[in-house]
Amino acid sequence: MHNKTIAELSAGLKAGEFTSVELTQSYLNRIDSLDEQLNSFITVTPELALEQAKQADAQRATGHVGILNGIPLAQKDIFCTKGVKTSCGSKMLEPFISPYDATTITKFNDSGAIMLGKTNMDEFAMGSSNETSWYGPVKNPWQLDSVPGGSSGGSAAVVAARLAPAATGTDTGGSIRQPASFCGITGLKPTYGRVSRYGMIAFASSLDQAGPMTRTAEDAALMLNVMAGLDSRDSTSVDEAVPDYTADLNNSLSGLKIGLPKEYFSEGLDDAVAKVIESAVKEYEKMGASVKEISLPTSNLAVPTYYIIAPSECSSNLSRIDGVRYGYRCEDPKDLNDLYIRSRGEGFGAEVKRRILVGTYALSEGFYDAYYVKAQKTRRLISNDFNQAFADVDVIMGPAAPSTAFKLGELSDDPITMYLSDIYTIAVNLAGLPGMSIPAGFANGMPVGLQLIGQHFAESKLLNIAHQFQQETDWHTQTPDAFK
Ligand code: GLN
Repeated sequence: MHNKTIAELSAGLKAGEFTSVELTQSYLNRIDSLDEQLNSFITVTPELALEQAKQADAQRATGHVGILNGIPLAQKDIFCTKGVKTSCGSKMLEPFISPYDATTITKFNDSGAIMLGKTNMDEFAMGSSNETSWYGPVKNPWQLDSVPGGSSGGSAAVVAARLAPAATGTDTGGSIRQPASFCGITGLKPTYGRVSRYGMIAFASSLDQAGPMTRTAEDAALMLNVMAGLDSRDSTSVDEAVPDYTADLNNSLSGLKIGLPKEYFSEGLDDAVAKVIESAVKEYEKMGASVKEISLPTSNLAVPTYYIIAPSECSSNLSRIDGVRYGYRCEDPKDLNDLYIRSRGEGFGAEVKRRILVGTYALSEGFYDAYYVKAQKTRRLISNDFNQAFADVDVIMGPAAPSTAFKLGELSDDPITMYLSDIYTIAVNLAGLPGMSIPAGFANGMPVGLQLIGQHFAESKLLNIAHQFQQETDWHTQTPDAFK
């Protein structure tokens, strides 16, 4: 059962081949026996899952239900879940039981989906390897001594190891696409504003976006159908009609114009990864697409711009976690200042502290114009580059990451190289565009993701482009040996 996609499992439930309770139990058994090696869950919720599954079966018996009814999913631990620990990978929120559900969680609950548990992640979604989690690193199911990517590394590992048919992730600078690439799964970061951020613990509010992490593009479409839409509780969610994302999956790609940014194929890209991307692009040419070299001249500004804007926003967002209102509080504080200082000093990990310091500095009165305002200006230039490129092409393709998964510990003392692992994904968040990573082959024995970047709200088109590739190739069906 565990090798089936959401679409296949949903058909099985509909045909009465198994019940949601049976399906849910079989995934819980897999998590129980296999997750010890991976550490991909922070919390597993078996009682809740089986209760939800019972209800889903009962609902099905009464008549018409949606496609996700009875389907087990894993939720990244960044989403608030009522009555369930919501830690965001941090010691700071270890004691936090959320009193409410994030909109994304409410929507999945309303659709009849089952929550198996909450997945491990980099602390407050800051990282590219899952090594900043207070709950310990997640292992890559393809090679247990390697990282799964981050920050949605737990979700990526869960899907790759078939511990759930699909999971949610969030992407501020690449955290859906880079782990999807490292673990050989399909990941979609929607347009900024497409999915509500209400109840999703904020890292960098102008960049954060939630999206599906699945085996196939078809499953990503089914998940996005539930997740997308305006939410009166998130003023940055956009009032744009939500199409049926499965409707265009089978459109022909004949005449599709693909742009390959020359900056994405230069120094720093692993040769073996480049070869995989080139052969994936050839596959598209066979399907009738044409390819053109394009330029995104400000590509080299994306990482430095991001590392001013994201820390600035996070320093502000995390100020609410002060040891008073919720989360960790130090023992025996002498006075209020001591309570703030020690609670935050003991509760936050090194990477989070580094970002709070950088952000506070960049926003300080003397440096605001020199750093923060300057970064906002370069952000505009980066966005303009994409607009210009899309005048000539329908989709931009390239690698999702410059390398395959690196070894655990390999980059933990080298934050700059770690930051560069998002070099191809970060600009997409700065411009608010949708992006995907889809399995495109293997290099050095590890999966490689092809990145697809589209115009604002072009999710249907990206899913169509991804789905057609998955009709012609079988990279997305490969499973790590230990988890077959
Ligand atoms: N790796 C990037 C960072 O550390 C992006 C993280 C993310 O997308 N949440 O900030």
